[in-house]
Amino acid sequence: MLAVSKGFPASKIMELHDLGQNDFGESKVQEALQKKKELENCEKIRWHFIGKIQSNKIRKIVQNFYYIHSVDSYEKILKISKASTELEKITLLMIQIKLAEDPLKGGMSYEEVLQRWSEIKKFRGIKINGLMTINPKDLTSEENLKLFKKCRFLTDSLKLQDCSMGMSNDWKEAVEAGSTWLRLGSSIFGKRKV
Ligand SMILES: *Cc1c(COP(=O)(O)O)cnc(C)c1O
Repeated sequence: MLAVSKGFPASKIMELHDLGQNDFGESKVQEALQKKKELENCEKIRWHFIGKIQSNKIRKIVQNFYYIHSVDSYEKILKISKASTELEKITLLMIQIKLAEDPLKGGMSYEEVLQRWSEIKKFRGIKINGLMTINPKDLTSEENLKLFKKCRFLTDSLKLQDCSMGMSNDWKEAVEAGSTWLRLGSSIFGKRKV
């Protein structure tokens, strides 16, 4: 489980960390870095980036996060690879894929991932460990399950491990389909103001 702590203060993260939760997800770089600084004594915390990636922040993201879930284009994979090589590190990432039309969400189409897979696989400085997806809002339980199963199927076909899928409103279907990272925010921390 990834505890999505965006919009909540470091004190809330600390409370959950004291209960044994180590993985936290943030979607804004500045906000995350502020909390990371406040919590630098909590050495076990692993910071995951789940937000939209702005190209000019890639270096900072590579430097400060353990796992990037939301890499939504070929160009960004390439840029993360370059930044990681320069920084001499291996960046763990997932490719965000778009399985249904949704004007609010980004992601690569599966066709594009397949088409470029042999090339992407060779990029240095990165370890692509899975696929991430965000379902459109207001789907039925069956529709959610169908899309999540598709994500799991594609992940398996690429011989990858992780599926980052399922949020507070659709995590049950995601578990059933084989999610390995449920990204839960409001169901853990309560309603966000933003
Ligand atoms: C905010 C967010 C979540 C958590 O959403 P909840 O509905 O609060 O559980 C999960 N994934 C991403 C990418 C998010 O931006």
